[in-house]
Amino acid sequence: MSQARTPAVVLQASPLGEADLMVVLLTPDLGKIRTAAKNARNSKRRFAGGLPAGALGEATVSRRREGAMWRLDAFRSVAEVSGLGRDLTRFAYVNYLCELTDVLVVEPEPEARRFAALAEAVGETLRSTPRPAVMRRFELRLLDSLGLLPALDHCCVCGEPTSASEIAFSSGRGGTLCVVHGAGSPRVPAQTLALAIALQRDDDPESAWDAASAASPAVRRALRDLVQSVVRPQLRRPLRSLEFLAALTPRGAVNRTPGDAP
Ligand SMILES: [Zn+2]
Repeated sequence: MSQARTPAVVLQASPLGEADLMVVLLTPDLGKIRTAAKNARNSKRRFAGGLPAGALGEATVSRRREGAMWRLDAFRSVAEVSGLGRDLTRFAYVNYLCELTDVLVVEPEPEARRFAALAEAVGETLRSTPRPAVMRRFELRLLDSLGLLPALDHCCVCGEPTSASEIAFSSGRGGTLCVVHGAGSPRVPAQTLALAIALQRDDDPESAWDAASAASPAVRRALRDLVQSVVRPQLRRPLRSLEFLAALTPRGAVNRTPGDAP
């Protein structure tokens, strides 16, 4: 029997039999793991605060042998999630962060930076007003952790640094393109690319969030569309959280991602 205590974010929880839950966790050292939480639907002591997607805290997990299914013995939240169901926008954002991670992360391989990116985005969204900039930073960092971050400041064909007020971008070809290789590709504002570069860096999330939140609506929309053009082809199934978010978004809003609506 091996037991571990680990920081964790609940990505998804679903009923398992009468009283148990199947809980998918993202952790820094064990990666993404599926766990069985015995009697979780009745135990307020071991699972104080419940186990909704976005619960952020410390998990105690155990398994009988290597390769066996993990048991979730306890989960202690460090962030308040009990009010999540009453704030629909926050609920939708947190669910989007978790569902996107669950769908894009297939391998259980541990990746401490991926966990840090999710914990940061969930923590920030639970703490303060949900902001699209927080989603964008997370999407870019998640893509980076999966080796899917597109080129943002050089031509993805020849490596030439890109500079112009509008730069050709093709997610299918790998990102930004120089004048020669980008002929005929759609352009994005250079300011959008600069925001994307600043957002995915490790340091100083506050300034990057503020800069992205203060950009013009056109630049923010271009950033959202750019990131979505990279994310969408990677999705193995439609995201339920996006459908939910679309239902919250005013009619006529440009598209169904956590974008400029709030
Ligand atoms: Zn080129």
